[in-house]
Amino acid sequence: MANIDYTRRVKYFLLQDFWAAFKLGMKYFFRPKATLNYPHEKGPLSPRFRGEHALRRYPNGEERCIACKLCEAICPAQAITIDAEPRDDGSRRTTRYDIDMTKCIYCGFCQEACPVDAIVEGPNFEFSTETREELFYDKSKLLENGDRWEAEIARNLELDAPYR
Ligand code: SF4
Ligand code: SF4
Repeated sequence: MANIDYTRRVKYFLLQDFWAAFKLGMKYFFRPKATLNYPHEKGPLSPRFRGEHALRRYPNGEERCIACKLCEAICPAQAITIDAEPRDDGSRRTTRYDIDMTKCIYCGFCQEACPVDAIVEGPNFEFSTETREELFYDKSKLLENGDRWEAEIARNLELDAPYR
């Protein structure tokens, strides 16, 4: 007489494998998704995230940068080039502020060195280009970045202020 495996038959009859798989599926169905629908969805970013550079202005539109050149001096990659001249009113401002983004290593030293929070690394990480030349940023490009990202940058600086 053939040896009948009754346990296996009962297991098949009660669809035990199906219910185990269904339970596993339901467990992951109600968990938060591990994937994002990028670029429509993005993950959270730290206020200290060091992304694309920007030059900020004061609320009255005046440039913050006072051309002290501390950022240029501290940059370990020598990516920053600044020229400065005094204005008619006696204040000093940059006539040239370039960052070679192909040299930058995103260390954040320029931001740390700046006494007036003028040069900052903003939250933008989506600035890939098709040509190398597009990564040679000049003053107008940096100021434009500052104008575009000011709200986010100001919020991040405020959140980070207690730890500085
Ligand atoms: S982040 Fe670092 S490497 Fe890049 S410009 Fe600033 S100081 Fe230079
Ligand atoms: S960005 Fe800041 S550190 Fe650099 S020259 Fe201007 S004021 Fe000085």
